[in-house]
Order: sequence, then C-alpha cells, then structure tokens
Amino acid sequence: MQILGEEDLVKYPFLEETKEYIAKLGLTLNDFVSNEFEKVIRRCELRLMSSRYPPELYTLDKDTDLLSFILALIIIKASQREDVFTRFAFNEANRAEHFLKTEENKRVLTYILKRLLNINILEVDDFIGNSHYEYAIHVKDYIKLSSSLKSIHWKIVNKIVYNGLVYLKRREIIRLARDKIYQEIYKRIKDAPTPVVPQNLQYLVDIVKNRPLPKRLAKNLVPTVDPPCVTQILDKIKAGKNLSHYERFFITTFLLKRGKTIDEIISLFSFSPDFNEKIARYQVEHIAGLRGGRKQYNVPDCKTLFSQSLCYKNESCDNISHPLNYKLKKVEKLWREEKTS
Ligand code: SF4
Repeated sequence: MQILGEEDLVKYPFLEETKEYIAKLGLTLNDFVSNEFEKVIRRCELRLMSSRYPPELYTLDKDTDLLSFILALIIIKASQREDVFTRFAFNEANRAEHFLKTEENKRVLTYILKRLLNINILEVDDFIGNSHYEYAIHVKDYIKLSSSLKSIHWKIVNKIVYNGLVYLKRREIIRLARDKIYQEIYKRIKDAPTPVVPQNLQYLVDIVKNRPLPKRLAKNLVPTVDPPCVTQILDKIKAGKNLSHYERFFITTFLLKRGKTIDEIISLFSFSPDFNEKIARYQVEHIAGLRGGRKQYNVPDCKTLFSQSLCYKNESCDNISHPLNYKLKKVEKLWREEKTS
C-alpha cells in the first residue's frame, strides 16, 4: 500500500522512493543542459549556496525539487570537497528533522522512522508525569542508536525503560533518525563515482569549489571564558580584520547577552578597517531591539553557527548545543590539565 504522497518525497528526498521515482524519468546528466530544466538548475543553485537550507523553501513542484536534490548530490561529488559533503548532508538532515517534527500524519512519520532506523519500532501513547511518549524501541537498539550522543540526556539511566523497551518522545526518536539521515546522504555522496559534468553546468561545480574553506582551529588556542567561536571573532577584530555580516550579527547578540553595553560593543568594532560608527551603532541597536521592529535577536545556536562555517568546536565545547551554555568550569579544567601535563 502506498503510504507516502508526492509532498512527502519532496520533504524527504533521501528516501529510496525518490531514487525509484527519478529512475523512471530516465534522465541523464546531459539532459539538464536543456532550457526545460532551468527551474531545476536555479533550485539546485539555491541548495548549493545556502549555508542553511530554510525549511520553508520546498514549495516548488515535485519534479523540480527532487531533481534539484539529485543534481546537487552530483555537483557536490564533482567538487570533491569532503567538507561540503558533510555540510550538505548536515543541512539536509536538519531540514528533514524539521519536517519530521511537524509531521501531522503519524503513519508517514512511523513509516519513515522505520525505514531510516531499520529496527522494530512500537507506537505507544503513554503519559508519564507531564511527558508524552509516542514510541518504544528495544534497549539494545537504543544503546546502539544513541552511542554517538554524549549528553547525559541520552544515557540509558535517564530514560524510561520497561519490559526491555526504551520509551521515547517524538522529538527524541526524530533526533536519533536525524543522524541516520545525515549518514545516508553523506554515504551516498561519498560512495558515488565522480561524475563528468557537462560544460554548461560546470559553473555549479565552481560555486561549490569556491565556497570558503572550513575554519581550522588556530594553533595554540588558549581556553578562555568564551567559546572558541567567539574567541575566533574577537581575535579577528583585534587583528584589525573585517567581519562578515553574520560574524558581526553573532558577536553582537552574544556580547549583548553577556551584558556588554552598546557603546562597549561599538568601541570593539572600531578596530575593524571598515568601521563606520553611524552604521555600526544602527546595526547594534537594531539587533538589541532598540530600532526598527524592536525585536531583540537571539544568539544563534551551535547548529546554525556550524552551518555558517563559524563553529570552531574543540573538546572544551563538551557537546553543548548553544554557545551561551559554554561552561567556564570545563574550560578551566582543561586549561589546568594542559598546564600540568
Ligand atoms: S560547538 Fe558551539 S560553542 Fe563550540 S565552537 Fe562550535 S558553535 Fe561555538
């Protein structure tokens, strides 16, 4: 029986059903050169250039969206940039996670979870305390699936276990599935043969090749009270380098949350060669919610910073998901260990 509809394939293009659907179209890479595929190419460009793929952007027709996904996989493989393999898989997995979390059709959700996790999944409907548990999986499956998640939240002792089954909330099982989606997309790119891209589409490969390189951790980075992503930007400012728009946005939100005043932040930006006090003040005040729509912007989380190539994660980050959760204690411990080793 057909469980997935057309819209589902667009939301979850990594599924086997997409491959089968595309195979039936009988297209080759050379076909994409034709004007008929203009919309697909534009869509693919968007997929390749977005450092974060907004979940709302999926409203085109099925063929355009699915073909743009397949074409993006091919172009990324042709670029041979492993860091882009990773980032693309990560962004697409995040996009799928968003759709799974808001999936209204439980049959579709359960079907996709089963296909992805490849384990026996029981649907339950139990309230324990204030929490609603919708799924249960075997303990041994849970241990295997959660082994890469370091937060104590995922430790088996912190889970509801009954009769050999681990009870999970919807968002928990989807989080486990997200890793699988990431792995599937990454493996698909990695295992594919390197394609020969027609001349007319070569510029797409160049878009990917020319994306900024992943940031490397500076040598001899000294742990500080700030997370590595913040330290990197502060160092850049002190070295008199210009910041990108997003770096400026991130550091402003972060420093405001840490209690810095608007004048202190502006005086920090004055180190930048492109500093213009009027513009800087307007931007900082806007982010602080003192201008325009008067919305105070939140500090981006680690996932977003990663997708913007601004994450410089090291051991001191200790699996946090938000830079504001960076713990001084952990940093000091590492620092002491380093000093005494
Ligand atoms: S893991 Fe989070 S806190 Fe650590 S560097 Fe990356 S973005 Fe910053």
